[in-house]
Amino acid sequence: MIDLYKPVQFIKGVGPQRAKQLERLGIQTILDILYHFPRDYQDRTHILPAHSFGQGDLATVKGTVIASQETKPRRGLSITKLTLQEGAATFYAVWFNQPYIRKQYPPGKKLLLTGKMDRNFSVPQVQVTDHELLEGDEGLHSGRIVPIYPLSESISQKFLRGIIKATLDALGGQMREFLPDDLLDRHHLPCLPEALQEIHFPQEEKAYQRARKRFVLEELFLFQLGLTLQKSRYIRQSKVHQYDNQLLEGQLLQRLPFSLTKAQQRVWQEIKSDLLGPYPMNRLLQGDVGAGKTVVAALAIAIAVGSGQQSALMAPTEILAEQHADSIRALLEPLGIQVALLTGRNRRGRKKFLEGVASGEIQVVIGTHALIQDEVQFKNLALVVVDEQHRFGVRQRAALQDKGLRPDVLVMTATPIPRTLALTLYGDLDVSVIDELPPGRQTIKTHHIGLNQAGKAVGLIKQQVALGRQAYVVCPLVEESEKVDTQAAIDLYERLQQALPECNFGLLHGRMKPAEKESIMQDFRQNNINALVSTTVIEVGVDVPNATAMVVWDAQRFGLAQLHQLRGRIGRGSHQSYCILVGNPTTKEAKERLAAMCRTQDGFVLAEEDLKLRGPGEFFGTRQSGLPDFKIADLLRDSREIEKAKKEAEKILQSDPDLKKLENQYLFKQFAQRFPNFVKYSDIS
Ligand code: ADP
Ligand code: MG
Repeated sequence: MIDLYKPVQFIKGVGPQRAKQLERLGIQTILDILYHFPRDYQDRTHILPAHSFGQGDLATVKGTVIASQETKPRRGLSITKLTLQEGAATFYAVWFNQPYIRKQYPPGKKLLLTGKMDRNFSVPQVQVTDHELLEGDEGLHSGRIVPIYPLSESISQKFLRGIIKATLDALGGQMREFLPDDLLDRHHLPCLPEALQEIHFPQEEKAYQRARKRFVLEELFLFQLGLTLQKSRYIRQSKVHQYDNQLLEGQLLQRLPFSLTKAQQRVWQEIKSDLLGPYPMNRLLQGDVGAGKTVVAALAIAIAVGSGQQSALMAPTEILAEQHADSIRALLEPLGIQVALLTGRNRRGRKKFLEGVASGEIQVVIGTHALIQDEVQFKNLALVVVDEQHRFGVRQRAALQDKGLRPDVLVMTATPIPRTLALTLYGDLDVSVIDELPPGRQTIKTHHIGLNQAGKAVGLIKQQVALGRQAYVVCPLVEESEKVDTQAAIDLYERLQQALPECNFGLLHGRMKPAEKESIMQDFRQNNINALVSTTVIEVGVDVPNATAMVVWDAQRFGLAQLHQLRGRIGRGSHQSYCILVGNPTTKEAKERLAAMCRTQDGFVLAEEDLKLRGPGEFFGTRQSGLPDFKIADLLRDSREIEKAKKEAEKILQSDPDLKKLENQYLFKQFAQRFPNFVKYSDIS
């Protein structure tokens, strides 16, 4: 058997230079070449006489070269024209700027050609896109269903087809299958050699569809294997610390200014049984904006602290960290618990802070990613809470986790994640969902108006402020430069202040110093500022129940998820709230986004909509998403395969928890090669 992990240079026709070019396509090994799948196919099975094609048809024709000529109608353009004969008829084949064709195909050679048919002349003329010498009876680039590959500069379709064919021929079907036989049987999928042949050079459409199905399931299966392996490893390590003191939780529950919703209670039971159970918790807490996740986190923190251990809460922005610190202090400090805040900026008192954390005197630490700096050392970190998870990479989560000894982990997210995506993104976590908002929440009345009606938005602000309520006005970040955007925000702020002199407006933007931002937020929280004009810095988490109006300027520029987050800032108190989306959408997609916002307030419905409109890659913004880079699987299209893959992964790990059995070793090797980061990351070796 040929080692599929040999470098591509072992393939005939691939020298050092080609190898380098291939590397740019991400192809290094023989396996990479074989897994460079077509992005499309063209059906060129029907070879017909040239005159049977109409103007503009994609034609596949064959013929024997009888003459050739080259013309240069102007500088930089050369036209090569071959005359070919087939039976009694003749036709022309045309190439632009490829003068070597004449030498390559002298009279007498038999060719198979594909290209666009031009019938504007008396003789049919093909503008050639693919050509090959017809020697045997089988053409590679024409006369069949032809694979179309993703390319880079300097690598052509012909070259790729050629080496992939050569590689497959050299292997002669001698590739070892690594997926379990029964898995293939269950899903009626072809084995590896067959699938490779069929995905590259299918005999019929059904064949490549079957092959594609196999590679999709294979990819998702290996990935789910990774997630499940990681999870089962984690939960099989028993806890180092135990919690025993539930007194505090009791006290805290008594002191809450409200009673927990049913959903909060259920989720709290799930979390509590994790915390008090024998294995570390690894749980995702999902809940729409305003669902009340913070109080649940505070309860968990209380259990840890009550048992003499430390907790840490990490939030993605300073404003959010500060806000969490405020609400958690309000809940825990009356019980005599020490809560401290660490952000990137509070240098003052830093030494004391670090000492306090190291000695264990500070029991709860809240902060931004500043928490993962090396100098922050805990005495006994037992519980890690991460808010707004999708903003942090898996790495940052793990870095914080590493500061404790197998701490319990609670990840919170307000982004409603469609189930299929949740399985791929968070397959290593158990999931709890708060699917109910606290009582008394009003539905938010949402309207979309054009820019020429912007006066209505101003009227809303005026009316709400007169009632003692508060308003947010959001301007979008549109330009490349923050400076220009800031100026746009300042302009809007000044215009509004002029239009409504009786209101006290505040301004918040990304170029302000953190201390300035915080003092503005403080004023807004205390209703010294009636209306806050801001760039999208208020996007996540800010909680001011008295705010009842949200005006989003140029709303068509925002994504659905973002609009939903923004709207989630209002409707948090008992008063009727209003959201006005101002803007003139030009694309159909933008119109649909705004219509969806007016139609529903359900985060999950909006998330599904968003996923449909944008596709999963952009859904989270690829970079921060932690979404794996799938070669062939498509999270939207293959959502049912994700579930199948998960079941299969669980099944195999049930009988062989570490994939150590002899029959699974080759599978494990494939998995480790395919997802090296995964393996490194989860200490699977
Ligand atoms: P999120 O899930 O977006 O983080 P928060 O935890 O910030 O939501 O809660 C939003 C608001 O709802 C806060 O003002 C909080 O005090 C309030 N709240 C949370 N739970 C309840 C409840 N069960 N009843 C009434 N209000 C609640
Ligand atoms: Mg929150």
